[in-house]
Amino acid sequence: MHGRQFDVIVVGGGTAGAFAATTAAREGLDVALLERKSADEAGHIACGDAIKGASTFPDAIDREYLRAESFTNDTVQRALFELPDGDRIEYSFGDRSGSIIDRKRYGEVLLEEADRAGVTIHYDTVVQDVVQRDGVVEGVVAVRNDTQRRYEAPITIDAAGALSILQDKADFSGATFETNVDYTHFCSAYREVLRVDDPVGYDDALVFKPTEQLGYLWYFPRTETEINVGLGFQMTEEPMQLVETLRQDLEARPEFAGATVEDKLGAALPTRRPYDSAVAPGYLAAGDAAAHVNPTTGGGIPGAAKAGHWAGEIAADAVVEEATDEGALWEYNHRIQTDFGKRFAAMDLYNVFGTAHSIDELTDVIASLPARQLIDVLGREGTASMGLLDKLELAVSTVGHWGTLYDAYRVNAMADELKSIYDQFPTTPSGFGHWRRERDEFMNRFYDRVGAEPKY
Ligand SMILES: Cc1cc2nc3c(=O)[nH]c(=O)nc-3n(C[C@H](O)[C@H](O)[C@H](O)COP(=O)(O)OP(=O)(O)OC[C@H]3O[C@@H](n4cnc5c(N)ncnc54)[C@H](O)[C@@H]3O)c2cc1C
Repeated sequence: MHGRQFDVIVVGGGTAGAFAATTAAREGLDVALLERKSADEAGHIACGDAIKGASTFPDAIDREYLRAESFTNDTVQRALFELPDGDRIEYSFGDRSGSIIDRKRYGEVLLEEADRAGVTIHYDTVVQDVVQRDGVVEGVVAVRNDTQRRYEAPITIDAAGALSILQDKADFSGATFETNVDYTHFCSAYREVLRVDDPVGYDDALVFKPTEQLGYLWYFPRTETEINVGLGFQMTEEPMQLVETLRQDLEARPEFAGATVEDKLGAALPTRRPYDSAVAPGYLAAGDAAAHVNPTTGGGIPGAAKAGHWAGEIAADAVVEEATDEGALWEYNHRIQTDFGKRFAAMDLYNVFGTAHSIDELTDVIASLPARQLIDVLGREGTASMGLLDKLELAVSTVGHWGTLYDAYRVNAMADELKSIYDQFPTTPSGFGHWRRERDEFMNRFYDRVGAEPKY
């Protein structure tokens, strides 16, 4: 078998992998990025293409170039919720407008940036196994041009997405790395990019429509005549015929009469809290591979970019210091959990709450919530506290849904408590067991209070 030595191996050329590889290469390391797709197909990834709120990307790449090349709609100001009874609720994003991207071009630019930083990119390279000795990951085995090759490095970064094969192959029995993962922690999603002749009239909005399976249909305008439409269902619910359901919905919408389908793709994405630990000796996981995704919206691009960047930084330090055990990599877990990790873990409480209620109850709650709360759920950082005006607005508009709403309000309060537990995430692996016990005790209290089945 051919073999090659690098400082860092990154598996996957999506958002997390491109940021990880570019960051480590800019630190002067010899980095290999392995991507199973061809150079032409790389970057072509199933996505709703929306970046909500004012998410910024790490400056490891040329952000202006990325924006100029791939941001097709920078003027998203509001969210529109279409309720089953035909009503529409509108929420303004205020001063935090969102964007919609051309996902393929965006992916290509990230890989161009990795190349410019000096990363060795091997396309058409399918990673099949992990090289591990005494629990320490020392590289991977991949097939390229029908030939099996061994890539070795003191650090491997797993950025292979939601269904990373590396985690099936590696033995994490002696590591802190999260292994409490099952299919109910994922959502199955499908999207099409449609071209229409006439402007849709909502090119400044993210449009959502709840579905029975604890998910939603979305219509995200890349431009006023090119719309990303898709839907997903959580795997805790009954499976849904994604393509058929989308077709039926599109046929009922006059703006899509005569539309041309430009692209179709589906994939799985995590709808769970981030991995408690995404490190093992010689190994870090970033992006979907470690559930760095907002579990209520599936928004994963900003989390993958940030986590990939941090993984690249921590990997570079570890290689330079020649220390690649969990203690040396732990800072990565700490940064994630005390940054977006706590917010995503808190959002996950809404998912758990959702499994205990029917869609009618939930849409009633959506219809009643003050804008600020809903925008929080959409992924914008915000406060869970409610002002007097909000409370009055709520009291007037929600007569009839008190039970569910009271539960929802309790979720809000408990989300704050959970965030403060994540703020106490340990700075070394030695405090990890204790922290987990405390978090798990909180979760048991939460399941009891909202009457939901334990998710983890
Ligand atoms: C239908 C859908 C809609 C979504 N909509 C949005 C949205 O609107 N906004 C948002 O922010 N997020 C959205 N997401 C989530 C977002 O796309 C992901 O969170 C994000 O792409 C994660 O990036 P990543 O780099 O971790 O993984 P990915 O983008 O999945 O990249 C993984 C890469 O690894 C490669 N790979 C996998 N296995 C191997 C292997 N064995 N060997 C070599 N290479 C391998 C893959 O080819 C791929 O290039 C959506 C996801 C889906 C499925």
